[in-house]
Amino acid sequence: MRTIQHWIAGHLTTGGSGRTAPVWNPATGEQQAEVLLAESADVDTAVKAAAQAFESWRDSSLSKRTAVLFAFRQRVFEYADELAATISDEHGKVIADARGEVQRGLEVIEFACGIPQLLKGEYSDQVSSGVDSYSFRQPLGVVAGITPFNFPVMVPMWMHPIAIACGNTFVLKPSERDPSASLYVAELWQQAGLPDGVFNVVNGDKVAVDAVLDSPDVAAVSFVGSTPVARYIHERANANGKRVQALGGAKNHAVVLPDADLDFAADHLTAAAFGSTGQRCMAISAAVAVGAAGDPLVDRLRAQAARVRVGPGRDESSEMGPLVTAEARDRVVGFIDSAERQGATLVADGRNINIDKGFFVGPTVLDHVTANMDAYRNEVFGPVLTVSRADTVDDAIAFVNANPYGNGTAIFTSSGEAARRFQREVTVGMIGINVPIPVPMAYHSFGGWKDSLFGESHMHGPEGVRFYTRAKVVTARWPHVQHGVAASYHFPTAT
Ligand code: NAD
Repeated sequence: MRTIQHWIAGHLTTGGSGRTAPVWNPATGEQQAEVLLAESADVDTAVKAAAQAFESWRDSSLSKRTAVLFAFRQRVFEYADELAATISDEHGKVIADARGEVQRGLEVIEFACGIPQLLKGEYSDQVSSGVDSYSFRQPLGVVAGITPFNFPVMVPMWMHPIAIACGNTFVLKPSERDPSASLYVAELWQQAGLPDGVFNVVNGDKVAVDAVLDSPDVAAVSFVGSTPVARYIHERANANGKRVQALGGAKNHAVVLPDADLDFAADHLTAAAFGSTGQRCMAISAAVAVGAAGDPLVDRLRAQAARVRVGPGRDESSEMGPLVTAEARDRVVGFIDSAERQGATLVADGRNINIDKGFFVGPTVLDHVTANMDAYRNEVFGPVLTVSRADTVDDAIAFVNANPYGNGTAIFTSSGEAARRFQREVTVGMIGINVPIPVPMAYHSFGGWKDSLFGESHMHGPEGVRFYTRAKVVTARWPHVQHGVAASYHFPTAT
């Protein structure tokens, strides 16, 4: 059995822990490896290595950092297929989807390659006689990332390329369900010339997470995962005086108006609901059909769901793979069972899938789903699309806004007026207009509202740079002190 280790100070290490967790092959249902689960002493070792590396990395020139980032970008680009295969083998997603994830990670690295431009400060000449003032930003120190299973390459890349470009050093605690990709990325950083200790990976569970949250030497924590854990991370990191951004779960609605192109809407909704087997924080899991859009939309969704090709992620012909674990599969099946009991109409039933091994559930469409049903109230995180009905656009907006999550949402319409009203009134962070999965490009920032994000900053883009740096403002008088300017005990004002 292969043992997946930690990566600390530039090499693989077993650390001191004897605890392990199984890593499954979701397509076969068999265990393929075990991953070490760090004790807090292992986290301390990684944080110490990062703290030591910070002493010189913080002083590395912008040119040197940019050169490493460009080399890292090139390495990730060259090994994208290998990374995608590693993702697919442990997560289960289909290869093309895994390749797309690597591509979105690459875009963050490319954004971070522009760090000299991003870190330019501001300068005000002659704010007072002979006095100039300028501001610039400096790194925080050791920063940590705690990440979910569903994007084992992309989500950590929302964090570490920017944090490292800003001059920080990084400790990553990836998901214990698909940990191998992070170790691959660590090697690519090393090959790109990143000094040892600047990027570290500690595998583990809550024990490792708590050690990160309690470490006095970790200055900031970026988290992405489910809402209960995000809330916990935010509270504990805050209580320990750390800067923290904690992105949580989601329930992403797509409002479909009768004036929309319903073929287009059904096609895109199907891909957005069942891509990655619904295990995306930006998956559309709840359609809201307005007025006359309802029945024709559901007819089209039924036909589309039946056409999705389900199979192992490594099979090039598969469009949708398995769920990540047996527990995830059983949980999804439980929500379909409960929706049926609670009165939803089963339009497509993924429980009937005819694959005898692995953690598969087929595309499922549930109609006439109301806000009190369990399959609507919870984030299912599987291939289940609920359809709810609304009489008007305003009713649909009220329905979306009543949901505690606020990550992404979309509207399908040919009315600019309705789209504009929607974008202004929904209490959601990322909005698509005839775009079902509106994941912002790396040079904008990614983040939701309400229970989908705890903290003030969104991830990557300009907000990522601000999160990983803090400002200094200098007020300077040169070349020598002006005689005749008397010191004053009142608050400094311009002269
Ligand atoms: P998760 O919350 O179970 O785990 C995320 C991380 O937290 C993992 O590294 C895990 O080891 C750790 N963790 C789990 N339980 C913990 C606990 N009790 N205490 C401390 N740490 C703990 O999430 P997941 O199942 O890996 O990922 C799926 C979730 O992530 C979904 O809810 C999805 O919506 C969310 N997600 C959100 C975004 C976003 O941008 N908002 C992006 C991707 C995923």
